[in-house]
Amino acid sequence: MKETINRIRKFNDDRDWNKFHSPANLSKAISIEAGELLEEFLWDSENYNKENVLEELADVMLYCIQMADVLDVDIEEIINKKMDKNEKKYPVEKAKGNSKKYTQL
Ligand SMILES: [Mg+2]
Repeated sequence: MKETINRIRKFNDDRDWNKFHSPANLSKAISIEAGELLEEFLWDSENYNKENVLEELADVMLYCIQMADVLDVDIEEIINKKMDKNEKKYPVEKAKGNSKKYTQL
């Protein structure tokens, strides 16, 4: 992951793009790319172009990685912290096999 983060940093440094990467702008970019990912399934959820889906998924993740970098946080740490919360909100004995929100379990 460190190599990937450094590669993304170099990409942005070389282009002098860091000035555009405020948390607010990166949040917008994540949402826009998530929309592009969703667009791949528009009108037909079954027959999608996997190559296009993977490209849009990568775009979402690239902006997520940049957001974590700008906020100076460790990606694995924040994911694990959130997973700790999710495991408490969705105990296996209550959540297994159903898709209800934790408030309705
Ligand atoms: Mg895209």
